[in-house]
This record gives sequence, structure tokens and C-alpha cells, in this order.
Amino acid sequence: MKRVLIACFLIVSVFSYAQQTDYVDFMKINSDIILNTDSLKIWGNSTVEFKILKSVDSIFMDAKKMNFHFELHNHDSIYYEYDGEKLWFLSRFEAGEKHKLSFKYKVKPKKALYFVNKNGEPQIWTQGQGKYTSNWLPSIDDVNDKIEFDLSVTFDKDYEIVSNGKLINKQTNDSTATWYYNMQEPMSSYLVALAIGKYNKKTETSKSGVPLEYYYYPEDSLKVEPTYRYSKQMFDFLEEEIGFAYPWQNYKQVPVHDFLYAGMENTSCTIFSDAFMVDDIGFNDKSYVNVNAHELAHQWFGNLVTATSGEHHWLQEGFATYYALLAERDIFGDNHYYFKLYESAVDLGRQDLAGDGTSLLNAKSSSLTFYQRGAWVLHALRSLVGDDVFKKAVKAYLEKHQFKNVETSDFINEVERFYGKSLNTFVDVWIKQKDFPVDAAFGLLQNESTFINEYLMVDCQAKTSKCKEYIRYYVSDEAKVKVISQMPELVTNDTFKHGFKVRQAISQYVRQIPKALKDNYETLLDDKSYVTIENALYNLWTSFPEERAKYLSKTRNVEGFNDKNVRLLWIALNLNTPFYQADNKQSLFEELVSYTDERYNADLRINAFNYLNLMNACNDTCKSNLEKAKSHHNWRMVKFAKDMSEKLEKK
Ligand SMILES: [Zn+2]
Repeated sequence: MKRVLIACFLIVSVFSYAQQTDYVDFMKINSDIILNTDSLKIWGNSTVEFKILKSVDSIFMDAKKMNFHFELHNHDSIYYEYDGEKLWFLSRFEAGEKHKLSFKYKVKPKKALYFVNKNGEPQIWTQGQGKYTSNWLPSIDDVNDKIEFDLSVTFDKDYEIVSNGKLINKQTNDSTATWYYNMQEPMSSYLVALAIGKYNKKTETSKSGVPLEYYYYPEDSLKVEPTYRYSKQMFDFLEEEIGFAYPWQNYKQVPVHDFLYAGMENTSCTIFSDAFMVDDIGFNDKSYVNVNAHELAHQWFGNLVTATSGEHHWLQEGFATYYALLAERDIFGDNHYYFKLYESAVDLGRQDLAGDGTSLLNAKSSSLTFYQRGAWVLHALRSLVGDDVFKKAVKAYLEKHQFKNVETSDFINEVERFYGKSLNTFVDVWIKQKDFPVDAAFGLLQNESTFINEYLMVDCQAKTSKCKEYIRYYVSDEAKVKVISQMPELVTNDTFKHGFKVRQAISQYVRQIPKALKDNYETLLDDKSYVTIENALYNLWTSFPEERAKYLSKTRNVEGFNDKNVRLLWIALNLNTPFYQADNKQSLFEELVSYTDERYNADLRINAFNYLNLMNACNDTCKSNLEKAKSHHNWRMVKFAKDMSEKLEKK
């Protein structure tokens, strides 16, 4: 293949004044991919179809740090140039032409696709948003070019391969298998997903007939029901509430090890952190319900209609947060809904007081602003225009802009059309101005929710006389939690009779346990909450040294969350209880050290490192694992490892 030396000049001349999307529309990317866990490399064979919109002499795809090999059959008039970041196609492209090109590539991705070690087993997953899919798949970083992606992926036949769209074929070879996925509609490149690992799956069907696939690790079969609880109900609810049929062929959810975020809404294939795989008890403390609903809502708001740029990011995060809240309201009721709105209004007010507030249209806004203020805008807007107008406008907005990109005015225009009045003032106050309209927000809450009115009335910092009464009866459990947090000394044996949240608050705020409460306090060790058990075990162990053996015996089989919060505390307390299980200390210590190994999840490792640091017991194995943690793919793990290393050096 001939290389074109004047390429750089041409490239600069065309794109200094316009977006590439004005000149070309990439329509389809078909890619065969082979992954290798030893070399951490990917080999791809892509066929790309595009249409020229305006005559141009060069177009590009994004492709980071790749090696290319070309087979431009019947296209000898098209030349290529690769600059390490972009793959350029050079020719006298004329408006209206359609092209189909093929090329092979090889890449060792720096980010966006991760090879991870899960308990000694390889697992592979992707994160496109914020990282760029073009680190492993030549594609288009600009979200404004929507493309139909069809991936076929080859890997060890003992693993499951999950990607966007529908699995249309699976071909097994000697040691490998190729899985063929097919999409029918276009999407932005950041939504391309791939997850490979050892999985089983459970399938349900939505009311409208969409297959819902819940993936899980084979060892987690008991966690499937609590983790995915309400999935179908939320799916059916959102389809009905949004008024626009779910736009993709199916909906898959895949937990992965050491994910970078809580979840990511890849089209028809949400990937989420396996820390949300919870058992019946974990469900009460740390359920997947909210993340589940949020990523599902993005399948419409973000994936079907995508913000043109960061200024309109709230059209994705604000909508996903709001619709997740509506789905939760359908399950947990109005009080839950208003309490969450109340909490976010408090956070937004604090952000403004700290001087960190921004307009919702500022691309550099905090997550709090994009997510929570965005959700508040929709709540306030609906209160203003009414349910009927709001729902009609949302539906029309999706119909008009489906599979395209949107700006804030596209949505507001639809609402104004059905409302019949200008929304300029609303937009200024709720969306454009720097400060969150906190008074207006509280006004709405007080108007709409007696539950919130009561909660606001209960305040033991302002007036203490009634708090003794509040904690006994009258008020909601949320308000009782507030009283306990402000005046833990008011807790009596009666207080233990209240619900789960109240009992958890006791474990959190009553740390030095009065003798009179001892019997009731011990019952907290049986609560269906790993947070409560962890708090109660520690507080009982410190408050009643003579009973330590009893508390340790009672909790010896409790593991806790994915980060083994109860187990690690139990080991630490055991090691500090000399007379209890004296022969067992060495093996328990080794167990604690073993959790710092890279085959465990980052939360568990951080937890184990913290305990070892606290006990001044980070030995050579611990130190060597800490060193390795510095090159982990998750920045939280890296930051933790660097900070702890520094502290160790100073000791
Ligand atoms: Zn989101």
C-alpha cells in the first residue's frame, strides 16, 4: 500500500473549521475480535460502512495506539494514514457516495477494556464512557455519530461472552468459541460493551415481550433473587411511565469484578459492579435497585437520545436519576421518593453555600448537579405543568429525536408546545442560574409531603423538650433516626422495638453502651443488616470486655458484604482477644493478609490493608501486595496504595 506524504496538510485544511459529522456519516461497524489474556492483546478485523454527506478529501476514525493492516479491495483510490490516534482515509470523496472498507488491527489497550483477575480466573470487561471505546475498537469518539455495531468475539469456549444486541449465532471450535452479536439500531461509540467471564444467567420476559437477562457468577446463585429483585417490575413500570416502548432487542445486566463505577448503561447491556451482588441480608443495606433503575432509564435517556455535548449532560444523568426515583416510588412508596428529594435538596444547598454550585448547563458541573439537580428540574417541571403535559412532552421528545442527539432546548420546546406557555422563567431559575433554587425546592416538598413536613419539624438541636416523645411514638422511623443522631442518650429499651432503620441508628450512634441497654443491644447481632452487625459487634466488644468470647462465638460465621466487612472486623477483634481461640491466631492472621492479594476485589483489599495498618502488622506479603496495587486499573485502589505506602515509610 502506498503511503500519502501530503496527508497531514490535507487533514489540517479540512477540519479546522467544521465537525466531521457534517461530512460523513459512519453507519455500520462490523468487527471480529479475538482476545488473548496472556499477551493482553486484541486482534480485530473490521468492516466499516460510511456515507459521504459533503465532498471532502479525508475522513477519520478514532483508534488509539493500534497497528493496522489494510485490505482495501476494489478501493485502490482510497489511501490511509495513521497517526497513532486517528486512522485517516484519503480520497476525492464526493457527496452521496457510500463506501465499505475493511482492515485488520492489533492493540494492547491502555484503558476502556480491562483484563482482570477474579479469584484466579480471567475476566474481561469494557467501560467506554469517559475512557473511549477507540482504545480497543476503531470507532468514533464524537457522540454525535451514531453507528450500528455488530461484534463477533472469539475467546476460550468455557467462558460466556456478552455484548450489545442479540446473540444470533455461537460457533464452537476446538478450544475457543465465537459469539455473534447483532444490533439493529445505531448508537454512540461510548456505548459499545463487552464482558467475558464465568457466568450463569436467569431470563425473564417483560410485559411487552422484551427478554431480560440477569447474569451472575455460578457461586452466587443465592444472590440472584435479592440482587435482581424488582427488575421486571421496574422495566414494566418505566416502559409504561415513559410511554415509549423499550427501543432495543433485549436487556442484559452483567456484574463485573472491580468495576470503575456503580454501573454503566451500555446499550442493551448494562455492566455493574459485583459489589451489588447481595444476599437477602445485604439487600437491606446496599441493594442494586437504584442503580438497576438508573441504568435502565438511560436506555432511553442517553442511549436512544444522546446529549450533543457536556453542557447538556443532565439530559442523560438528570433524567436517569429522576426516572429511577419514580421506579423506586412505585416500589417503596411516596415517602421514600420525597425523602430522597429532600436529601438531594440539602446536598445541593450545601454545595452552593460552599461556593461550588454551577448552572446545570455548565459542562464542568459536579455529579451532584448533573444527577440530583437534573432530577429536581424534572420534578419541579412536572409539578408546574402537570402529569399529562409532562408525559406527552417526554413521549414526543423521544419520538422526534430517537437515535439522534439532543440539546436542552429540544426537550423544553416539546414541553412548551403541550403546555402552551413560555417556560423562560422556569428555565432561568431551575436550569440556567448558578444557585440551586433551594427555597422553591423546600416549598414544593412542604406542599406535597406531610411526611417531609413532620421530618423538618423534628429537630432536637433547636428544641429538645419534645424529643423524648418523638423517639417513643408519633413520628416516622426516619425522624426517629434524626433524633437518635442528635441525642443518642435518649435511646431506651423501648427504642429497640422500632424498625430496621431505627435499630441501625442505635448501632451507629450509641457507641458506649449503658449496662441497662445491654440485653437489647445484643439482639442487634441478629439483625438482617451487615452494617448493624458490624457496628454492634465492635461496640459490644469494647463496652463489655468480659463478654468478648460470647460475641465472637455468636458472629464467627458472618462474612458480610463483598468486602467481608464483618469477617475482617471479627478477625481483628479475635487477634486482640488473647484468651479466645489461642491456637488459631496465626492462621487467622494469614487469612487477613491473604485478602490483600490481587485476586480479591479492591474493597476487600483496602479493608484488609486498613486493618493490617491499624495493627502495625503489614508484613512482607502485605507490602508486596501493596506495591502491586499501585498499578491497579482502579484509581481508588491506586490512590489508597500510594497513600498507605507513604504512611508506612514515615513510620
Ligand atoms: Zn447515569
